[in-house]
Amino acid sequence: PSSASPTKSESKVIRRKLNGYVGFANFPKQWHRKSIRRGFTLNLMVVGEKGLGKSTLINTLFNRELYPLDEKPKAAFPSPEKPVKVSIETVSADIEENNVKLGLTVIDCPGFGEDIDNTDSWKPIVDEINQRFDMYLDAEIKINRSTIVDNRVHACLYFIEPTGHSLKPLDIQFMKEVHQKVNLIPVIAKSDTLTENEIAEFKLRILDDIKNQGIHIFTPPDYVNDDAETKEAAHEIISKAPFAIVGSTTQTQTQDGRVVRGRAYPWGVIEVDNEEHCDFIKLRQLVIRNFLEELKENTSNVLYENYRTQKLIKMGIKQDDTVFREFDPVLKQEEERQLHEAKLAAMETQMRSIFQASVAKEEKKLQATETDLFQKHKDMRDKLLKQIKLLEDKKAELEAARPMTHEKSTHQTSQPTKTRKGFLR
Ligand code: GDP
Repeated sequence: PSSASPTKSESKVIRRKLNGYVGFANFPKQWHRKSIRRGFTLNLMVVGEKGLGKSTLINTLFNRELYPLDEKPKAAFPSPEKPVKVSIETVSADIEENNVKLGLTVIDCPGFGEDIDNTDSWKPIVDEINQRFDMYLDAEIKINRSTIVDNRVHACLYFIEPTGHSLKPLDIQFMKEVHQKVNLIPVIAKSDTLTENEIAEFKLRILDDIKNQGIHIFTPPDYVNDDAETKEAAHEIISKAPFAIVGSTTQTQTQDGRVVRGRAYPWGVIEVDNEEHCDFIKLRQLVIRNFLEELKENTSNVLYENYRTQKLIKMGIKQDDTVFREFDPVLKQEEERQLHEAKLAAMETQMRSIFQASVAKEEKKLQATETDLFQKHKDMRDKLLKQIKLLEDKKAELEAARPMTHEKSTHQTSQPTKTRKGFLR
C-alpha cells in the first residue's frame, strides 16, 4: 500500500510500509563487534586539594592500584619564598574486563589549592584542557585524519571538602572557569565524615551555590526515545549530585559477617558499594557503567565544538554556519563585543599578574634592604658596645690605680715628685 500527498512545492512524498527482513536490525551487533575490537577510551581529570581522597577514589572506581598509596609524596609546605605550583600528572593504564578493553588516562593536578594564595590555581588546569583541545584541532586540520587520538578531557571529578557548610570561593572560581570546557562532576569527598542529615543539607547548599553562580554540571541527557529504564536511571543519578562518596580498596568484615570494600569504625562499617551508605555506585554508573559514551559525546559535540568555533573565529576563519552571521549585523556586533571583552579580560589578567610580580619584587627588595639595615644597625651597636666595654675596662683599670695616683697628685700639686721624695728622705 502506498500513499502520496502533494506538498506546497508540488513535490510528492511517497511513504511505503516495508515488508520483509532486510538485515539492518543487525546494525547494533555490527557496532558491538567493532567497539569490542577498537576498545574504549576515557580521559578522566581529578581536581581537589591534597588529602581529599582522589587517589583512593580512582583506585576504588577501577578496582586496581593505579595510585599506589604508600608511594605518595608528602605535601609541600607553602611559604612566600617557595610557592606551591600546580602541575599536571597523567597516569595511563589499559584495563580489561570480560574481553572489553578500556584505555584509561587519569589526569591529576597536584598542588591545586595548596599555596598561600590560590587565586590562579585554576589556570594551569584550564591551559591543560585547552592544549588538549588544540592538539585535537591540529590533528583534525591535517590531511590524514584517520588516526586522530582523542586526548581531550572527557570528565572532571571535582572534590569538595566535607566541611558541611557551603562551597569555598576557590571551589566556585574553579568550577566557573572550567564548566564550559569539560563535563564537570562535583563530588563531596570523604562523606563518611558527615552524618546523613549533614550531607543532605550540604548538598542543598552546594546546589544552591551552583545554581546562583550559573555553573553547569554534567547531567546525563534525557533522550525522548530512551526506554523507561534508561530514563529512570538517568533521573536517579541526577538526583544524587553532588555525589557523596566514600573511597576504599580495603576489604572489611561487617557485623553480619559479609566482606565488603569499606571503612571500619568502632560503631560499624561504611560500605563503599552500598547505596544506602554513599553515592559511590551512582557515580560509577555515571562515569563508567551507563554514561561513558554520553560524556565523550558531549565533550565532542558540545564542549569541543564550542571551543573550536571560538578558536576559528579568533583566527579569522569562518565556519559554514557563520556565513549567515556575516550578514547579521547584530550577531556580528555581539561576536565582536565578546571577542573584544575576551581580549580585555586577557589583558587585564596579564596586567594584574605583571603588577603582582612587580609588587612582589619590590617587597623582596624592601625586605632585603630591611635585613641589610638591620645588620648594619647590629654591627654598629656591637662596635659601640665593644668601645663602651673598652672604655669601661680602662676606667676600671684607672680606678684600680687611683689611690696611688691620688696620693701622688696631692703632692704633685705643691711640689715636683723628685724634690718631694728627696725632701722626705
Ligand atoms: P589525595 O591526596 O586526594 O590523593 O588523597 P588520598 O587518596 O591519598 O587520601 C588521603 C587520606 O585520606 C588517606 O589516608 C586515605 O586513606 C584517606 N581517605 C581516602 N578516601 C577516604 C574516604 O572516603 N573517607 C575517609 N574517611 N578517608 C579517606
